[in-house]
Amino acid sequence: MHEPYLLCLKCGEHISFARMLNNCPTCGHDMLDVRYDYAAIAQELLAEWARRPFNMWRYRELLPLRNPANIVSMGEGGTPLVPSVNMGTMLGHDHIFIKDERQGPTGSFKDRQASLAISAMKEAGVMEAVVASTGNVAISYSAYCARAGIKLWGFLTSLVPADKMREVALYGTEVVKITGTYDQCKEVAASFAQHRGLFLDKGLRSIAARQSMKTLAFEVCEQLGLLKDGYGKWRAPDWYIQAVSGGMGPIGTFRGFEELYEMGLIDRIPKVAVIQVDGCAPMVTAFKAGKETPDIVNAPNTHIATLATGNPGIAYSQLRQIILKHGGSMESVSDQESFRAMHVMAKMDGISVESATGAAFAGLFKLVGQQVIKRDEIVVVNCSGHTFPVEQELLGDEWTHDVEVPEATLTASVPQEGLLSALELLDDRMRDILIMDDTPEASRLLRRILQAYGTFIVREAENGRIGLDMVYQRPPDLILLDLMMPEMDGFAVLDTLKTDKELSKIPVIVVTAKELTNLEKQRLSGKVQSLMQKGAFSDQDIVDKMVEMLN
Ligand SMILES: *Cc1c(COP(=O)(O)O)cnc(C)c1O
Ligand SMILES: [Zn+2]
Repeated sequence: MHEPYLLCLKCGEHISFARMLNNCPTCGHDMLDVRYDYAAIAQELLAEWARRPFNMWRYRELLPLRNPANIVSMGEGGTPLVPSVNMGTMLGHDHIFIKDERQGPTGSFKDRQASLAISAMKEAGVMEAVVASTGNVAISYSAYCARAGIKLWGFLTSLVPADKMREVALYGTEVVKITGTYDQCKEVAASFAQHRGLFLDKGLRSIAARQSMKTLAFEVCEQLGLLKDGYGKWRAPDWYIQAVSGGMGPIGTFRGFEELYEMGLIDRIPKVAVIQVDGCAPMVTAFKAGKETPDIVNAPNTHIATLATGNPGIAYSQLRQIILKHGGSMESVSDQESFRAMHVMAKMDGISVESATGAAFAGLFKLVGQQVIKRDEIVVVNCSGHTFPVEQELLGDEWTHDVEVPEATLTASVPQEGLLSALELLDDRMRDILIMDDTPEASRLLRRILQAYGTFIVREAENGRIGLDMVYQRPPDLILLDLMMPEMDGFAVLDTLKTDKELSKIPVIVVTAKELTNLEKQRLSGKVQSLMQKGAFSDQDIVDKMVEMLN
């Protein structure tokens, strides 16, 4: 099998996939995609896939991760494809299938994106990341970052329902609430990431994020084939319908259909239906007017925050090309029609969805009514999300950082100085904690605890010698010290620190898996502030201890 390679979608350059790049080295374009050895995969791997658990990682040879050890997974994907019962009968349509993405770990199809994007971050060694979101991406990324031990900053507009923001906060993400539109929120997040030197999730330009959505197409075709034609058969639907905000879903899913077609597994490429809400429908408006570029909706007028992307950017022209080439439709529905569709789905088919998903079903009703979708065509609707509220009492007050976009920058396209100074407010006095531990899992756990409870600078050293070097370079405010380490153990680190007048003042918490002998206890006495047994302390214990020592 040939290695996957990166392809520049503008100049066609093939680039070796040694690492994820942001831009084409030849022309500088920022949309790169991945290509695989489709013939070999189709020949060698189908039987193997069928034996694997039914989740998105079943297709991992078609996903851009080099080492499976980096997979961060909670069983995402592998969601049911359920035929509609009463809603289909009501519409007089017998071939409507609901891809139930509510059953992802955080209740939306963003779990596919999060699983792959966070795995890719882990593979790239990212420790702290920034994401802007209309809600569900932040929820899902937060859950996966928690597992991966990556600290996340979630930038959300004040439009996002408080229930959703609280869920983000519950996972330990720093929630930054932006009073402004989603497009401004993205700009603020980008300048914050740049200012702090943090990894920024690039939305539609993220290779991992787009590629994750292919798995929706793979699963749907495998499930439809099984249902209609039997084991080992694949079948494409005639339509893929989705409520659209930024357009990641349909663009990524479409690429999945293309790959299956290239592998000879399906005999057609489905038509894509893009559904937006009337109050924020830049794509639909431009498409109907036959325009190549959309007019940006500066002030989205909808209660459905998930769908409030006013500036679709390049997503529009890509989706337009797809639909002009393969057929499909762009249609908009009102908030009221979306809410009504939520009632229909819950009352007719027992499926409770969030309002954005309601819009997809409202779009389906409209397209079937207009006979754009024919009665004999097989339709798959992305049942994209479900919400679960987190009670206010769980978090207390002050669980967001509120940033008001200064009036003068509301109209400017590039964030101005005022904005950056608003961001400076987020830089409260940060404490510098140094972890010396040779077990990556232990080190990651400690880092995760620290990041979930405050804005600490966390540095890690895998043994005492490296740790001491870091102490000499910049003395930390506190040291978390393991005792048993190669090269130089914790006892030796303590002995060395005690020979220096200044360094001996740094508080040290020993975190150890070792049962201490009396002699060892004596060696530690007077040199450490606290001793904690690995596996026997809670996150709160260690945070309490640290707060006590840092104050
Ligand atoms: C993100 C999201 C959408 C819109 O998806 P895009 O493909 O990013 O436009 C629709 N429904 C739900 C529930 C979502 O979370
Ligand atoms: Zn190029």
